[in-house]
Amino acid sequence: MEYPTWNNTAGNYDFVPLLDGNRGGVNENSPVYEGKINLKLHSESPVYVGSGQETMIDGRLCRALIRNADGFPILPGSSIKGVVRTIAQSVSYSGSCAELLRIYTDNRGKEKLGYFSNTDCKCLVCTMLGCMGTSSRVYFSDFKATGSDTEIINALKPFSVSDSYTIKQKYFIQDKPKGFKFYPMGDVRNALGSVPTECVKAGTTFIGEVVYKGITERHLEILCFSLGLDGSFPLRVGGNKPGFFGVVRPEILSFTCYSSGSYKNLKIHDLSEESKQMDPVKLASEYGKNDSDVCRNIDKLRDILNRKV
Ligand SMILES: [Zn+2]
Repeated sequence: MEYPTWNNTAGNYDFVPLLDGNRGGVNENSPVYEGKINLKLHSESPVYVGSGQETMIDGRLCRALIRNADGFPILPGSSIKGVVRTIAQSVSYSGSCAELLRIYTDNRGKEKLGYFSNTDCKCLVCTMLGCMGTSSRVYFSDFKATGSDTEIINALKPFSVSDSYTIKQKYFIQDKPKGFKFYPMGDVRNALGSVPTECVKAGTTFIGEVVYKGITERHLEILCFSLGLDGSFPLRVGGNKPGFFGVVRPEILSFTCYSSGSYKNLKIHDLSEESKQMDPVKLASEYGKNDSDVCRNIDKLRDILNRKV
């Protein structure tokens, strides 16, 4: 869950609008696939995913990176999944189930702000990544740093939801959320704050895998798109995005894909079968092609993620 942040750089985030409606669900008789994508993520700016603990480094108390048992920094699978879900929701008809800041009226009739969990939903994203009542068909491993070069940078201070008037102006048009928030890129030195933060240095790579079981070709398209596999935008992972952290670009190390029955009737693939000749880059660039509303959101998403401020 991402909380709103006050920024010291003007205009350093923007919104991809919500697409409402029920288009784009899943035909339960569609053929489905299973397989694995091995990926390497190349960081182009410092990366910080916090462990929730603080540590003394060079005499300063710093927010500490999350590491695996071998001491290497990692991007947890849940964090990568969150990145993929947000992108996928922003370019599909997921406006009604997305976990966004929303205005609601409490039982005393008072207006409040809060996040809501997804409910049992049949949209393209929830039928792939799961939600309350539906399990996920895609599994993300932790992505492990191949080096452990870290540095301390004073990151911007995150704030919690407190001033509802300011938040309403920033996040809503009337009572409707503006949409999914994304950050452009920029020079880390132009957005320094006051929170000493241990981060992985720019130039570090992370290796991990994405395993999928029982997803349709359209799911595969939006999955490959949302992992940035067509190379048309960088992903943004971890914390301090307003401070330009977390710019990573994916490299595909390997891709396998096998038939595995239909969406409602999964079969384990025949081990003698050869991997299907599907191209993840092509799958990513096919996504949304025939839907002008989706295309408009894809253009907007690319525009924000490639913007330099
Ligand atoms: Zn949904």
